[in-house]
Parts: sequence; C-alpha cells; structure tokens
Amino acid sequence: MAEALVRFEGVRKAYAAGSYAVKQLDLEVKRGELLTLLGPSGSGKTTTLMMLAGFEQPSEGRIMLQGRDIARLPPHKRGIGVVFQSYALFPHMSVAENVAFPLEVRGVPKADRTARVARALSAVRLDGYGDRHPAQLSGGQQQRVALARAMVFEPPIVLLDEPLGALDKALREEMQFEIRDIHQRLGVTMMYVTHDQQEALTLSDRIAVFEGGLIRQLAPPRAIYDRPANAFVAGFVGENNRLPGRVLTRDAEEARIALDCGPEVLARAADDLAPGALCLVTIRPERVAVAGVAAAELGEGAMPAMVREAIFQGDHVRLKLALGDGGEILAKRPVGGTTLPEPGSVAAVAWEAGQALAFAAA
Ligand code: ADP
Ligand code: MG
Repeated sequence: MAEALVRFEGVRKAYAAGSYAVKQLDLEVKRGELLTLLGPSGSGKTTTLMMLAGFEQPSEGRIMLQGRDIARLPPHKRGIGVVFQSYALFPHMSVAENVAFPLEVRGVPKADRTARVARALSAVRLDGYGDRHPAQLSGGQQQRVALARAMVFEPPIVLLDEPLGALDKALREEMQFEIRDIHQRLGVTMMYVTHDQQEALTLSDRIAVFEGGLIRQLAPPRAIYDRPANAFVAGFVGENNRLPGRVLTRDAEEARIALDCGPEVLARAADDLAPGALCLVTIRPERVAVAGVAAAELGEGAMPAMVREAIFQGDHVRLKLALGDGGEILAKRPVGGTTLPEPGSVAAVAWEAGQALAFAAA
C-alpha cells in the first residue's frame, strides 16, 4: 500500500462555538492518488481543503504532511498548490507570467523559471500560449493555466476546489478527462472537491463521501457505486430507487421485506436488520427488469406494475412504474427494437435479490 502523504488525525472544525463544520476527520491521502471529497453543499469539503492549505485552522486534531505536523505553518510555507473555481489568474499578466509567479515568489532564478514554465504549460497542453493574456483564453484553457500555476513549483500535493464549476457541461466533461490524464501522466497527488457525483466517479482513485461534516464512506468509485455503505451514499451517488418497508425474515445475507406499498421482496441486508425492523430497500434503475406482459415472464418474485411514463433518452428508456399500493419505481432499460410501452399498460418488474440493498431506516 502506498505511503500516506497527508494525514488528518482527529480533526474537527467549528467556525462558531459548538457548531462543527467538520465533526470528525481521520483521513489519509496516499502519495500519487487522486482523492475526491464528494458531498452536498455545506457538508464540509471546502473546510477540509482549506485546513490542509492553511487558510483555516482546525479547532482540534492534527494535520500531517510528509510526516510533519503543519498546524502552525502559514499557507505559503506549506508549499501546496491550490486551484479554485474562480480562476484567479492575474488579468494583466501574460499566461507565462502567471505560471512563473509562484517561482518568482520562491526566488527561483530567471533562466530556471523559463524552462519550468514551458514544462508546466506543456503538461497542460498549452505549449505556445505563454504570450497570451487570460482574457484571450477559453474558460477551460484558463483553468489549465491555473493548474499549471499550481503545479509549476512541484508541490507534494495539489488541491482543487470545484475547479470546473464555472464551465458548461460539455467542457466540464472534456476537462475531467484532461485532469485525469494530467494526474496519470505526472503522478501528482491531488485532492479534488466536487458536489458532482459523475465527476467524482470519472476522476477518482478513491472517493470520500461527505455528509454533515463526516465521511460516510471512503472507497474507490466502483465500490462506492456497487456497495454503498449506507442509505445516504446509495442515494447520493448515482440514481437509486428507495422503497420503505419492514423486515419479515432474514438469514446471513438476505432479508425478506414487506414493502410499504405491498409487495414482498428479497434484498441483501447491508445493515444489522432484525425481523420487524423498519428499513429502506435501494435498487438501481438499471437493475430493474421490466416485462410488458404477465409477471410470470420474469419468473419468481416478479411484481405486477403499471407503466406511468416512458421517456426516450437516446441511449436508454426511462420507465416510471406504479408499484403496488401507492409505490413508484424507476427503471432504465436499453432501447429495444419495439415501440415504447403506453402509459397505463400493465407490466411486471423484478430484480435479482443480490442487486437490491436493505438499510436500516434512518
Ligand atoms: P462544502 O464545501 O461542502 O459546501 P463548507 O466546508 O464550505 O462546505 O461549509 C461547511 C459548513 O461550514 C457550512 O455549514 C458552512 O455554512 C459553514 N462555513 C463555511 N465557511 C464558513 C466561515 N468562513 N464562517 C462560518 N461558517 C462557515
Ligand atoms: Mg465548497
């Protein structure tokens, strides 16, 4: 396992007495990884990043960088590169001057600066752009300059706080691949903040899912998606159906659950669930099988349902179905050769027991 470059140890942060923006943080960033902090607005992501950068002080706990407690070091002595959503490039300086700035501050000689600026611009694929001014660049190019400026002095870690937040969707997706590529080519350690789960899945070696100042799960993207540790993560990362119910019976792995809307289903018990316990069954829309006719076609466990809406989405069809008494379930199905089911038509839904997860109700 790669060595820890950064370690948060028992870190807490209260801006006002008794109200914690970060409640408890024990987190390692490994050398060379891209770790994403993902969570809704106000969950403590920026506060975490700011404490590492040195712009905020923890109320409790220690932050170690390369084995050294950095609590007392001011930001400029930590030698960490930072990129924010607003590019914060100096508008009156050329691109090359912007990227050279951190080297100048550190007293790097001019000849050396020129070579390092050229290398940094090349790393973000902006060779030949040195003489332009920020206003002559697109938003994506400006963020690449900001990234070059954050990396030019070869910091041990680069922190990025929603760096693509101001870009439109297409450019944002292009830049996600760009950042991933830069990270992989240069092997630079990155801590990346976003509230966008798709972005986190695209970019990350590992994702720390934040909620209310706590990490609710820390795992690689695939594990976060396939094996969410709790109902919050199941709902925040990717789409998920959430069906409330009550546990009837359970064995080591599976629980049989009576959904509030009527049907009895099987689900993998992701929590300690005893018979009688209230629970939440989650199932991904792409895991819900739908048949247009008799429930029997889907085999044992199929539930009668009724199509409410069928929406063509190009690469798939979204089906909203009424389930039992007052329940609703979303299914995503590949586009077949046949016509879309009509709203009001009778259908059946089913899923493999192992694909549904049952969590204790909050
Ligand atoms: P995120 O980046 O996940 O949106 P933040 O770390 O910015 O979350 O904020 C976490 C909590 O701390 C929020 O409730 C926010 O209102 C509060 N907060 C953030 N910065 C300050 C500040 N400078 N002073 C007081 N409260 C703050
Ligand atoms: Mg933030």
